[in-house]
Amino acid sequence: MSQQIAIVGSGPSGLYVAEALGKLLPDAAIDVIDRLPTPYGLVRGGIAPDHQSTKNVTRQFERTLSRPGTRFLGNVEIGRDLTYDELKAAYDVVVLSIGAAVDRPLGIPGDALPGVYGSAAFVGWYNGHPTHADLAPLLDGTALAVIGNGNVALDVVRVIAKTQAELAASDICVHAGEAMAAANLTDLYIIGRRGPVEASFTSKELGELGDLERCDVIVDPQQLPADVGSHVPEKEVKVKQRNLEILREFASRPLGERAMRLHILFCAAPVAVLGEERVRTLVLERTRLEQGRAVATGERFELPVQTVVSAIGYRTAPFPGVPFDEARGILANDEGLIEPGVYASGWCKHGPRGVVGTNRTDAQGLVQRIVSELDQTPEHAHKFGGAEIDRLLRERGAVVVDFEAWREIDRAEVSRAQGAKPREKFVRVQEMLEAAFALPGDERH
Ligand code: NAP
Repeated sequence: MSQQIAIVGSGPSGLYVAEALGKLLPDAAIDVIDRLPTPYGLVRGGIAPDHQSTKNVTRQFERTLSRPGTRFLGNVEIGRDLTYDELKAAYDVVVLSIGAAVDRPLGIPGDALPGVYGSAAFVGWYNGHPTHADLAPLLDGTALAVIGNGNVALDVVRVIAKTQAELAASDICVHAGEAMAAANLTDLYIIGRRGPVEASFTSKELGELGDLERCDVIVDPQQLPADVGSHVPEKEVKVKQRNLEILREFASRPLGERAMRLHILFCAAPVAVLGEERVRTLVLERTRLEQGRAVATGERFELPVQTVVSAIGYRTAPFPGVPFDEARGILANDEGLIEPGVYASGWCKHGPRGVVGTNRTDAQGLVQRIVSELDQTPEHAHKFGGAEIDRLLRERGAVVVDFEAWREIDRAEVSRAQGAKPREKFVRVQEMLEAAFALPGDERH
């Protein structure tokens, strides 16, 4: 009997685990379960809509999901359609690859005011994630601040700063594109609590800020150190030097006359958000750096902004039945092991860091471990797998979106896109299900 394996989550981590397992255990039956009817996790819902080439990895993921013995079970939520105990009873191995979908809270007074959004929600909104499609962020002011100095913060300011023409070949959802086009923002801020060397920007993404059609970039040259400093690990020196060069070039530009200005502020830690009905002011405290650490100075200043997006990292959503590491915001695990036969991979295992490809190496390591531990499992431990799960799902009337049904959604999204857009995403589960199960000849085809 072949090994029965379930992977929960069809983002990069889950699909690289599926790929590696498929190679090492060619006879295994692998079910990739996702609560959404659509696969690919952050590749669909996280990667910026104007970074289409990064999304090409989905071709590889399509091959993984099309492999004989691998199935996609979309629109199946653990906790709603199945329980964790049922998964464990049905499969020899369960891998949880559920990512980190929850925003880390800012944790400062006023952070719940209307007009303050976490980047998971904000990015999910413009990328058409069903959970965030109705966010309708307040974009009616003139100034917006993004807190955080990572690549997500860069994505958010870049997407907001781009014109409709610059986004024409992106897959930004029409509702978000229209809301941004209608906004009258003139000043964007990207704010780091530490310095330019400590920012976790990658150079390509930082450099893109310099090419925005309607937005000047403003950096105070006084905030740029002469060199990266001795606290920077050797392997990071090159990228930090390159980032400094890019920032110096930005700082040397004469102030242009573009309609928007992007202010890059360093050494400013958020202290409070002020406002009555909604955000009016962001209060910041200047910091100084000691060997790369931020030290508070007590000196405060205020930015008049009407919208705040915090891009300060993510936490994993607790998974029913699995112990949770509150301090780290991940599933409690020991090098990927949650309990015998159950593993965690990707961001829910080690926190939100790394790019899509990082998951491939991680997955290969975890799969080696899974296979060696499976080898020690007695033959009689083999379970009923997907057959049992299918029975339970049928009994409960679950509407399962398999890979072919997802392809129907995919085709419908591509065919309804206007102009140069690669697709117009459905943003509601109901619309996705209608597209998935539309009869041939329906007008969406
Ligand atoms: P990140 O790189 O960890 O950046 C988080 C930022 O938030 C850091 O600058 C951090 O500052 C700051 N921060 C944390 N808590 C804060 C607080 N309380 N107040 C103020 N600032 C705070 O995370 P991310 O941007 O969410 O990205 C997650 C991962 O996805 C990263 O590995 C990233 O490279 C990857 N990603 C890649 C791309 C791409 O390749 N194009 C695009 C998007 C995301 P400190 O450093 O001081 O803690």
